[in-house]
Amino acid sequence: MRKKDVYLGRDVRTLENACVECGNILNGAFGFNFERGRKGPAPSPGDVSVCAYCAAVMIWEGDDMRLRAPTVEEAERFAHDECVQLARRLIKEKPKRKAAPG
Ligand SMILES: [Zn+2]
Repeated sequence: MRKKDVYLGRDVRTLENACVECGNILNGAFGFNFERGRKGPAPSPGDVSVCAYCAAVMIWEGDDMRLRAPTVEEAERFAHDECVQLARRLIKEKPKRKAAPG
């Protein structure tokens, strides 16, 4: 089976949000997608987010873009979402780094 290509969007700044699981402060995001051209410049309300520290799944919500824990239904859906699960696996496997590459 051919491995899928993963497309990463540009880093964008977000308001500071504490991860609902680990409490680390998150102040940026980038899109992650299997479809070229759909990487997206910034998250929108309702989009899923994965914590860069602990790989917790969260949901962007509201005009001020806060992160909240997923509902039971959302958690169930994302547990079967290939893209979300790949993002979580990559975060869990990546070596810890001091700063974002730039
Ligand atoms: Zn976290």
